[in-house]
Amino acid sequence: MLDINKVRADFPILHQKVNGKPLVYFDNAATSQKPQVVIDAIADYYETINANIHRGVHTLSQLATDAYEISRKKIQKHINAKHSHEVLFTTGTTYGINLVASGFSQFVKEGDAVMISAMEHHSNIVPWQMLCERVGAELLVIPMNEKGELIMEEFEKLLSNKVKIIAVNHISNSLGTINPVKHIIDKAHSVGAAVIIDGAQSAPHLHIDMQELDCDFYTFSGHKACGPTGSGILYGKEEWLNKLPPYQGGGEMIKEVTFEKTTYAELPHKFEAGTPNIEGGIVMGTAIDYLNSIGLDNIQAYEQELLEYGTQKLQEIEGLKIFGTAQHKTSVISFNIEGIHPYDIGAIVDKMGIAVRTGHHCTQPVMDFFDVPGTVRASFSFYNTKEEINALVEAVVKAKRMLS
Ligand SMILES: *Cc1c(COP(=O)(O)O)cnc(C)c1O
Repeated sequence: MLDINKVRADFPILHQKVNGKPLVYFDNAATSQKPQVVIDAIADYYETINANIHRGVHTLSQLATDAYEISRKKIQKHINAKHSHEVLFTTGTTYGINLVASGFSQFVKEGDAVMISAMEHHSNIVPWQMLCERVGAELLVIPMNEKGELIMEEFEKLLSNKVKIIAVNHISNSLGTINPVKHIIDKAHSVGAAVIIDGAQSAPHLHIDMQELDCDFYTFSGHKACGPTGSGILYGKEEWLNKLPPYQGGGEMIKEVTFEKTTYAELPHKFEAGTPNIEGGIVMGTAIDYLNSIGLDNIQAYEQELLEYGTQKLQEIEGLKIFGTAQHKTSVISFNIEGIHPYDIGAIVDKMGIAVRTGHHCTQPVMDFFDVPGTVRASFSFYNTKEEINALVEAVVKAKRMLS
């Protein structure tokens, strides 16, 4: 079990007042807070081993390189990738998707198709639209039902050997739906399509296992999983990473450069041009150690409790509607109150120290589907409490009274 007082003591930012009230941070789907070990590891890196990595003979450069590569191996183990060179350091989920979408220009031809789903984040829509425009391919969209679940019969109808790649999120950031990605991956492979999973919302909450999923690519951000901003991972199967062209050209990604011809470095360096976010890569490893010290099973069970409690309490408010009621979901509650703009609720509860996100959550097609301008989104993490949920419910009731 998870010791909530001990966990909360790890997060210095939680122990402050905002607008005169104890901070209640319910914007975890946008970015997570950082435990003290992560904050310390950032300072420690700059205080002790800061140097540019690879190609360095001096001691600090070797120490920084070792720490960076140890972190890569740690992440490999954590996501159960077969090889550490299948784990690429990036700046975040968005970068990983763009890298793959750009490279797939070589494998998607005119008349082919790319498939996404109705509940993707804009960063898993726009790069694929750009790819389709570039090569003259068609963008297919797996539809969803009123609960915010993908309709699998429709998915199977859309699937054919014209589809070269499928890009879906593991968990929806605006609805909380956990998608049946294993099923999608198996079906995709049966028609020869590759699959990239947007794991921005799953990496902080679930065990993810690359070999079990058998996905071709999987991408996530460090900052949503207790790590630093500007850090991220793209996992790719070795055979795909060998086939894919480099994304950016520059230092570190080359074997030999002449003006006539350049040959590329081996994996993973082929995709890591330029000086990376060294500290971010190292500290992502620290963040993963931290999550594992709490235990993802404990995290999941506790967050599920918060989800059930929050859903029940919020639903008691008259006129409140929850968007995203999938059978399998994580601790994200998107809601609106009839006749009130989500922004107004967000602004009022902020005055009471409660941080929620309002708007379209980078998923405008989801808002269009439900025919709303946006929602109020409360997303819970393992350091939140039922008392904080009570504070939210009270604040929303107050806001409703003031606005109606
Ligand atoms: C946050 C998020 C992204 C984008 O992540 P960045 O860290 O901004 O690159 C993509 N997809 C989902 C589902 C997200 O929640």
